[in-house]
Amino acid sequence: MSATTIASTRHGVSHRVENFTESVIREMTRLAMEHDAINLAQGFPDFAAPDFIKEAAIQAIREDVNQYSVTWGDPALRQAIAAKYQRIYHMPVEPDRHVTVCCGATEAMISTLIAVLNPGDETVIFEPFYENYGPDSILSGAQPRFVPLRPSPAGWSFDRDELAAAFNARTRAIIINTPNNPTGKVFTRAELEYIRDLCVRWDALAITDEIYEHILYDGRQHLPIATLDGMQERTITISGVSKTFSVTGWRIGWALAPEALANGIRKVHDFLTVGAPAPLQIGAAHAIDHGDEYCRRLAGEYAARRARLVPPLQAAGFNCQLPEGAYYVIAGIERFAEPGDGADTAFARRLVRETGVAGVPGSSFYHDPRLGQSQIRFCFPKQDATLDAAVARLRRLAPRR
Ligand code: GLN
Repeated sequence: MSATTIASTRHGVSHRVENFTESVIREMTRLAMEHDAINLAQGFPDFAAPDFIKEAAIQAIREDVNQYSVTWGDPALRQAIAAKYQRIYHMPVEPDRHVTVCCGATEAMISTLIAVLNPGDETVIFEPFYENYGPDSILSGAQPRFVPLRPSPAGWSFDRDELAAAFNARTRAIIINTPNNPTGKVFTRAELEYIRDLCVRWDALAITDEIYEHILYDGRQHLPIATLDGMQERTITISGVSKTFSVTGWRIGWALAPEALANGIRKVHDFLTVGAPAPLQIGAAHAIDHGDEYCRRLAGEYAARRARLVPPLQAAGFNCQLPEGAYYVIAGIERFAEPGDGADTAFARRLVRETGVAGVPGSSFYHDPRLGQSQIRFCFPKQDATLDAAVARLRRLAPRR
């Protein structure tokens, strides 16, 4: 049945849901499986999670932690999260007042947006963006305003005047994702301070997705915007264990918020999901309590994977630069695909079917698909053999005639 047929019946999907498409990232994973292609599309590791997190969860199940935990998070996990933010970022977080454990950072984001946004409010979103933020804004009734991030030899950056112009009296929140998916940008202190000043001037919130907080390269340090002067009371910090501990399927994330906002987030979270998986919360608490050394090593391991994928991509003819953080690279496909509407999607599909490598078409990361038509995103949380095999296949790509 076509979408139009569905929409024209009384029992079709809601107008809200009609306004966005299914996730292209997940679709590319399905396509990769269908064609037995190497999946550099959806960002998840193809290597094992560390034993210490697995053992702690196994033990929790053995000890019969099988029923609902406290809705907003097992006390041990909320305590571990609060202690970690204090220890690493000197950020005061109280487990009982500020922390809501959710089913992944994904649920933390949507619960937050539903909790703080009203119809008619606006959000500011950097573009290219992680594809959830658009639908998340629509589901919460707000209107997103997009501000471009542009690549330059010095990295991806935004124009300060363009960002300032996106704020107005209706702006309720800016969504920041640093380290950034898909660009690999790590926002600098000066940039975050500029954003802070805008938030203060317009009385707006910063909602910050920091899920890649431990994956930064070349000596960069993660800086939560909540720790800047004046931001603690207007920031919701979102993160989780998925990327740090290679457990994307566990669905354990969190939102840290000032108490009044945390109460709203907790209500939404409660009615959406009741709670995150109880024994996995115990595993996550253990990993956070004992994972500082592991976290320090993580960036080095990812730097090696970055080196294994990105320079070979450049050599194969993709137009890209080394990401500063996270585990994605946006690659220009000008050399391989004629520019035009849908060129990225056609290229990505061809790449799965004919080359055996899956990436995500650039248009998934833009509100106007044309802006991403000459890009594809690859991810590299993969074993050496996987990355090498992908590179060997991509090297055989013929330039367009
Ligand atoms: N964050 C990952 C990505 O961008 C996974 C997305 C997802 O499927 N939740 O690929």
